[in-house]
Amino acid sequence: MALVVQKYGGTSVGSIERIKNVARRVIKTKRQGHQVIVVVSAMAGETDRLLELARQLAPQNRELNERELDVLVASGEQVSIALLAMAIETMGEKACSFLGHQVQVLTDNAHTRARIKKIDSDRIRQALADDRIVVVAGFQGIDERGNITTLGRGGSDTSAVAIAAGLQADVCEIYTDVDGIYTTDPNVCRRARKLARISYDEMLELASQGAKVLQIRSVEFAKKYAIPIHVRSSFSEVEGTLVCKEDKAMEKAIVSGIAYNKNEAKITIHGVPDRPGVAAAIFSAIAERGIVVDMIIQNVSADNSTDLTFTVPKDDFQRSLEIVSGICREIGAENVAGDEHVAKVSIVGIGMRTHANVASRMFAALARENINIQMISTSEIKVSCVVEDKYTELAVRVLHDEFQLDRELAQEEE
Ligand code: ASP
Ligand code: MG
Repeated sequence: MALVVQKYGGTSVGSIERIKNVARRVIKTKRQGHQVIVVVSAMAGETDRLLELARQLAPQNRELNERELDVLVASGEQVSIALLAMAIETMGEKACSFLGHQVQVLTDNAHTRARIKKIDSDRIRQALADDRIVVVAGFQGIDERGNITTLGRGGSDTSAVAIAAGLQADVCEIYTDVDGIYTTDPNVCRRARKLARISYDEMLELASQGAKVLQIRSVEFAKKYAIPIHVRSSFSEVEGTLVCKEDKAMEKAIVSGIAYNKNEAKITIHGVPDRPGVAAAIFSAIAERGIVVDMIIQNVSADNSTDLTFTVPKDDFQRSLEIVSGICREIGAENVAGDEHVAKVSIVGIGMRTHANVASRMFAALARENINIQMISTSEIKVSCVVEDKYTELAVRVLHDEFQLDRELAQEEE
């Protein structure tokens, strides 16, 4: 008998028919002799619908009370757990649903993006011992003072992994509307291939560079507690992708995946005075407003001044421009320019650590298609290029071909 955690995303519980489908799958696992904990998201579109209601109360994008936003959006998962628990019971198995606070998913108090600190497994264990299928609301928790918190968009993935870690589950399966992790977005590149396995670090890079299958924090959590995640489809029986610890065989692939992100905008400050404290002034002002800067590039200075370019999420573009323009006057920079028509394309692979010419191959492949590279950044297992957004798809396809990602390596055939 194994302890299995299964997580079903919004599309998998998007209608009563689909909830029944999930109930059948869960029951099947139970009847194979396992204990099952199911973590669910809100029904498809529900979280967006709730946020839209709130937005109507926020003219001129005034900031809303985040504590109340959490109370609002946490309601989506309350609906789906109840429906799933009832669906399971009508099919003849015992179930019990729990909200985050009922099983003490304790988080910090950072509303709308809280982090899980601890999970009290007692109540879940009791229900399991009582032969029940346990259905837990994803995405939500409670802070030390009893306020409802949520974990950020896509947070149910993290709930599932945290529960799997907390209860030392044997398996954590994340069911979604795709059947695994692909070398790149199959909607962009027909030749994208499903990976049998991918390491935590590669998955983290792909997720932070724009791949949307798993919430980044869920992968961080899984890595920290060495929980293998099996990403698979709730609509079929095929094996998905295992996100797990790396091993030697995985290093054979130089590039494992390609991600793209169209949700970035670029800001350049010209003629920044070259003296200590200037970058600190600019980026503290941005950080204070909660804006997360991605790439930063500073030129070598000539005549005691330099240029500074960086990227921010598109949603924060206007606000960032305003903040930076203000700072520019204070520090005596020349001018600020912005460009929203950019995208970031990244290649990711742990094999890069041991291969020398990966970046140059990437640049050459883009050059052959006349795609101009505006910014470059690298990490040990990633190279990212900012390009004009209309070339995004082309860049992804060209790189997929260059690194022959459609070909399976021997290690995966074993
Ligand atoms: N319902 C939340 C969202 O839409 C959490 C999740 O689905 O993982 O982001
Ligand atoms: Mg999701």
